[in-house]
Amino acid sequence: MPEGHTVHRIARQFRADFVGERIAASSPQGRFAAGAALLDGTALTEARAVGKQLFLAFDTDRWLRVHLGLYGAWDFHGQISPIDAGGAVRGSLGAPRVARALRMGEGERPVDPADGDFPPAPVGAVRVRLLTEASLADLRGPTACEVLDADAVAGVIARLGPDPAADAGPEAETEFVRRLTSRAVPVGQLLMDQSVVAGIGNVYRAEMLFRARLEPHTVGRRVPGEVARGLWRDWVGLLDDGIATGAMLTRDEDDPAARERALADVGERHWVYKRTGEPCYVCGTAIAVETMATRNLYWCPTCQVGP
Ligand SMILES: [Zn+2]
Repeated sequence: MPEGHTVHRIARQFRADFVGERIAASSPQGRFAAGAALLDGTALTEARAVGKQLFLAFDTDRWLRVHLGLYGAWDFHGQISPIDAGGAVRGSLGAPRVARALRMGEGERPVDPADGDFPPAPVGAVRVRLLTEASLADLRGPTACEVLDADAVAGVIARLGPDPAADAGPEAETEFVRRLTSRAVPVGQLLMDQSVVAGIGNVYRAEMLFRARLEPHTVGRRVPGEVARGLWRDWVGLLDDGIATGAMLTRDEDDPAARERALADVGERHWVYKRTGEPCYVCGTAIAVETMATRNLYWCPTCQVGP
């Protein structure tokens, strides 16, 4: 499932190529025909991400809310402006490149540019197609795709926990600490709860718990405030880095040589995620896996004994 950094990058891509443009909206698959008709011919005024949700505002006080869920992705074609500081769209391995067609969902990768006319014919079950004169975005497989008014959008956002990329103020940190430390629920579950903190998914959850050396079953109420604040600050840095690079670098991310290795090889990126049975990089214990909050949780039973 795309985690928060990807959704923020998708919002960036919409800001780069679609905001300010009049949008031809359609639903080639047909399932979203009524919603697309409400948006068709209006101008996109804003693109923002909160946690894993994308909100696109149109000049008629209508918003498109999209949650990609496990399988959703956006395909961009035509003009795809660079959104990285480095000045180029990044491929799935993190190498800067200019893409003619780009898929942003679970990771990011160039796709078949569909040589020929622009816009290319829809391929597969395209729920919604947003088209300007120069750029095209096709959405497939989302969990949620609906048209809302501003009040309804505010209601959705109010139910989400803080997202440091949407609000980095001290109140957001305080709110996170309050929500995490007031519950008798395992911290490994709370980090995935979008009403506690918005945007963390399965990869960041496992890696953040390892980085904090936290035992994943520790209930929120037993996590000291200082440790909770440390989790938030770690998330602020990881999310910022993920938005900048498009990759989840959670191990030795401050070491330039290690960064290069991790960008080139996904097997080098993580401390515990998807490393079941392999030796912990710190202590050599076999990495354990179990189900928590419906997803596989990876952790080191020797290192993670805190708080
Ligand atoms: Zn270990």
